[in-house]
Amino acid sequence: MSFFLIVSVFLTACKPPPSQKILAMGTFCSINLFHDGRPELYKRLFDRIIQLENKFSVNIPASEISRVNESAGKSAVKVSDETFFVTKAALDAAYATDGAFNPLILPLTRLWNVSGLNPKVPTEAEIFEAKSHCDYRTIILNENERSIFLQDEKSAMDLGGITKGFVCDELRKILVEENVKNAVLNLGGNVFIFGKNPEKKDWQVAIRDPFSGEGAALVVFLEEGSVVTSGDYERFFEKDGEVFHHIIHWKTGYPSRGDLKSVSILSQKSMVADILSTAFFVMGWDESLKFLENREKYPSLIPDDVQVLAITKDKKVLTSKNFHVKITKNEFR
Ligand code: AMP
Ligand code: MG
Repeated sequence: MSFFLIVSVFLTACKPPPSQKILAMGTFCSINLFHDGRPELYKRLFDRIIQLENKFSVNIPASEISRVNESAGKSAVKVSDETFFVTKAALDAAYATDGAFNPLILPLTRLWNVSGLNPKVPTEAEIFEAKSHCDYRTIILNENERSIFLQDEKSAMDLGGITKGFVCDELRKILVEENVKNAVLNLGGNVFIFGKNPEKKDWQVAIRDPFSGEGAALVVFLEEGSVVTSGDYERFFEKDGEVFHHIIHWKTGYPSRGDLKSVSILSQKSMVADILSTAFFVMGWDESLKFLENREKYPSLIPDDVQVLAITKDKKVLTSKNFHVKITKNEFR
């Protein structure tokens, strides 16, 4: 988990009720509805997480994405509106970021298997072969039929870099519908703060120290919205003193080697924040800042409210110009 949350003490007189958790999407998903916490509402939210996991997960053979992958090189697969929507957003992001965000990364993520039980450093030949099947330009989307066709039979999609953000956006719709006042969602580091803090203070979200992977590097104060982080400490393995993490650059076939240790995106739009955190981690700081100047060209990918905070490998904290949330820094200056 890349974040942990310091929820500022809620209703001073009474302790806030604890959050509830499930294991889904390969991580802990916790929800705190505070004093709106009806059991049936928790159930509705957790059911929605599971429902979406069942559509997107490549570890579930019957998922829509698994079916698309199995039909690679053979036929187009009709999918639900939401699977089409997420795939289209992921593919648009791939074109916009020149593949820094690449939804067709599964041949490489499977090969490295960083999130699995037996990760290994592949041979050069294996990497060369796998990366030749990660060209996102071979994905064909048919908007009218709502179908996805992977032209390369050895290619396969992995939506791990976008799913949790989309799920947060979907849970938010339920919170609105159910008139929830305040909620904190934490889907394995994709944090979403819903509603203003009733103590009329900002919420505090702690950004994990990406060097130790434990404790807070700094605390961000914000009114509400999503804070999504990607970092090389989230999932990794070590071999001969070298660290190999889970975000792969398809052009090299290796875990990306940019200047950032972690990058956090703040926005009301969680799916977009999820895309950008993964992409910016690959792109590095200078390229990410340049990318943010393309707001007019990519309005849906770069929302007006987007703010970026990064911790570099040499322990500097960098922020985008419009960054207006307050940070308390400890050792990171
Ligand atoms: P995140 O934690 O959101 O940065 O997403 C990381 C996950 O996205 C990985 O575990 C993979 O499932 C997938 N992934 C890895 N590299 C990339 C990439 N370059 N573009 C898009 N998704 C990726
Ligand atoms: Mg992401």
